[in-house]
Amino acid sequence: MINVMQPTLGKEELDAIKSVFDSNWLGKGEIVANFEKMYAEHLGTSVNHVLSTNCCSEGLFSSMYLCGIQPGDEVIVPTLSFVGAGNAVCVNGAKLVLCDVDPRTLNARAEDIEKVITPKTKAILLLHFGGVPCDMDKIMPLAKAYGLKVIEDCAAGVCSKYRGHALGTDGDMAMWSFDAMKILVCGDGAMLHFKDPEMREKADKWLYFGLESKSGYENSVAQKWWEFDISSYGHRAIMNNITAAMAIEQLKKLPLFMEKREAVHNAYNDGLGDLNWLDIPLPLEEGSRSSFYFYHIQLKNGKRDELARYLREKGIYTTYRYFPLHRVPYYGVEGTFPNADYATDNTLCLPLHQSLKSSEMEQIIEEIRKFGKIYG
Ligand SMILES: *Cc1c(COP(=O)(O)O)cnc(C)c1O
Repeated sequence: MINVMQPTLGKEELDAIKSVFDSNWLGKGEIVANFEKMYAEHLGTSVNHVLSTNCCSEGLFSSMYLCGIQPGDEVIVPTLSFVGAGNAVCVNGAKLVLCDVDPRTLNARAEDIEKVITPKTKAILLLHFGGVPCDMDKIMPLAKAYGLKVIEDCAAGVCSKYRGHALGTDGDMAMWSFDAMKILVCGDGAMLHFKDPEMREKADKWLYFGLESKSGYENSVAQKWWEFDISSYGHRAIMNNITAAMAIEQLKKLPLFMEKREAVHNAYNDGLGDLNWLDIPLPLEEGSRSSFYFYHIQLKNGKRDELARYLREKGIYTTYRYFPLHRVPYYGVEGTFPNADYATDNTLCLPLHQSLKSSEMEQIIEEIRKFGKIYG
């Protein structure tokens, strides 16, 4: 079976993990700090804007507290979002307000967001679909005009850029995932970015029990190191030296990963671009860069499910992301989302990972073209 996603791991990661074993300190330590420093550099920012955590979903959940979202506040989420985004809003007692998306990019646009803004709206939780940037030049002024916080789910945008700067650095807060199905993988882990270093400080405590450390404490209890104080009922969500050691090696390999992923993207464009029964992804906007996390085609003949099954029979696994939250009854959100419905019923994500062989690429393209001859 040709996988739709797959990690690329090697000796470098194993050696790095071994050195953590040898050090006898598996917990959060110097290696995590090094990874944070390297990732800040990767984003083109400084370490007082970033903080690691144990997964990207934790970043979504924590964004509500960190952005001051209160019960009853409304948070706008594109209906094509990761399930964790919907849960993050609801579990905090805020009201989940869904918006429609662009039918081709599957990203929410400023006009989609503006339609559902009310006096109770406090934040927008954006998703950059497949690492392709949303139109931040239109969304940020809209958020400013209404005084809304902007949270960017950059889970799959590890190398994405918008207008020349790292994607995720426009909004108040952003998060990247390093789980097993992403591009940079370390088992589980994530990085958070904060526009305001003070929010980072708040997050640092929130992600470790709300513990007050160091500041002003040395004098009073330095002799009794078992005493503590807290400033919030925080979580416990930190990276450790094992996952950080892996993440550092993966970070070094990112340029290679991107080269490979872009080549796959271009090969699909070349191999499928002339077929009139499907749409290939739109070209990127000037100054934007994708991480090539997904390659999504959209069938114009209503035969998406048939194609998915046809390919699976040929040993080619495909999928669709993200199932719309408005079709999940438990969220209880009403409304019509015609573009998201179109995307959900006609979009297919093709295999895209660093280990895809050119023979496999050719096979996938050939099978899709064959399917077109039968059903196109
Ligand atoms: C994978 C993913 C997440 C969750 O990441 P974890 O690190 O697994 O919690 C969130 N949002 C999007 C868009 C994702 O693809």
